[in-house]
Amino acid sequence: MITRFAPSPTGPLHLGHAYSALFIQRYVQSASGRFLLRIEDTDSTRCRPEWEAAIYEDLQWLGLEWERPVWRQSEHFDTYWTALKLLSPYLYPCKCTRREVKAAGADMGVDGLVYPGTCRHRSMSDADSGDAIRLDLSKALKSLPKTTFEDTGLRIGLDPDFVLTQLGDPVLRRKDTGDPAYHLACVVDDAEQSISHVIRGRDLLNVTPLHVVLQHLLGFQAPIYHHHDLIRDDDGKRLAKVSASRALSKYREDGATPSDIRKMVGL
Ligand code: GLU
Repeated sequence: MITRFAPSPTGPLHLGHAYSALFIQRYVQSASGRFLLRIEDTDSTRCRPEWEAAIYEDLQWLGLEWERPVWRQSEHFDTYWTALKLLSPYLYPCKCTRREVKAAGADMGVDGLVYPGTCRHRSMSDADSGDAIRLDLSKALKSLPKTTFEDTGLRIGLDPDFVLTQLGDPVLRRKDTGDPAYHLACVVDDAEQSISHVIRGRDLLNVTPLHVVLQHLLGFQAPIYHHHDLIRDDDGKRLAKVSASRALSKYREDGATPSDIRKMVGL
């Protein structure tokens, strides 16, 4: 088996990341698999080289080992654009701002606002570089056979209604920066890196059906998914990157050892 840990260098790693990385390490060891590290740095507005350096430092300190060279998404944009081209029959350009999407009465789905389809009539022939590129999900789903995938030990049927009503027409190329969106880069890389097992937190459980749709459209085999629980802070609140959770490096500065961290996250 081949799996990966895929942090984004947008801030310090916290205990939740440590749990995820150590959980993956344990999984890899029990299956004699391979551990790859992928730096998900497509968001040019939020990713910083110093956060990437901190990822290596923190993971090394925790005792993790990964294969070299590290896969950095910013070095693979051509691959994402080639994949995007393959999706052309299902794409359309979109000029809407977030404010316009909200004003059009978009509902909140599991991955942000569900796009109401204002630009769906537009064709790729009039796309310009300032447009976002969206995937027309209802069109895409029509071309999909009945599909199942494996998630956390269960075989799940892909539910087209869930995908349509909760994930809307996702952006695959961003409007503001022209960068590839996470969903596209993630699915392409999992295939490019021959990832057989995607092990990640439950916060990404609900976007997995969209990843399975993209894999089908691109002719990739779906990996096996395992979504682990999220650790909670002392108040029972979920630890998130954006929360005020303490950075792993702060624990280290305060004298914690890697085995203290393992104990704290219950591994
Ligand atoms: N880069 C994502 C994150 O830091 C992880 C994506 C994934 O594991 O698929 O939340």
